[in-house]
Amino acid sequence: MLQNFYKEIVLDHYQRPRNRGELENADLEEHLNNPLCGDQVTVYANLRDGKVEQVAFTGRGCSISQASASMLAERLRGKSREEAEEEIEAFLKMMRTEENEELGDLVALKGIIQTPNRIRCATLAWDAFRRGLKGE
Ligand code: ZN
Repeated sequence: MLQNFYKEIVLDHYQRPRNRGELENADLEEHLNNPLCGDQVTVYANLRDGKVEQVAFTGRGCSISQASASMLAERLRGKSREEAEEEIEAFLKMMRTEENEELGDLVALKGIIQTPNRIRCATLAWDAFRRGLKGE
C-alpha cells in the first residue's frame, strides 16, 4: 500500500537522520519551533559562490518534523541558492495546496499527514531555511 511505503520513507529518515548535527561557522543558522506539536528545529548551512555547500540540522519533536529536516538537508545540499529557493517554494506549495509537485520522496511527507494541523510539522525546517536565506 502506498501509505505504508510513505511511512517507511519518513521513518527511515527519522531513525537514520541525514546530516544531523551542528555546523561550525555556519553562514546560515535559523531556529523555529512549532508550539502546536512541540517540535524544535535549527537548520544550518554553508553558502559559497552562490551555492549551498553543506546543510545540517538539530532538533527534537515528532517523526514528521525531524524526518522533514533530514530530507531538506539531503535535498538542498549542492544546489544553487536559486534552486534551493525554488525547491523550498515548491515544497511549501505542495504541502499547503492540493497540488502534487514532482518532488520525489518529499511527497511521502504529504502522504502520511492525515490532519491539517500536522502540516506545520512538515514545513517547519523549510520555513526556517527560507527565513535563513532571506536574512543572510
Ligand atoms: Zn510535529
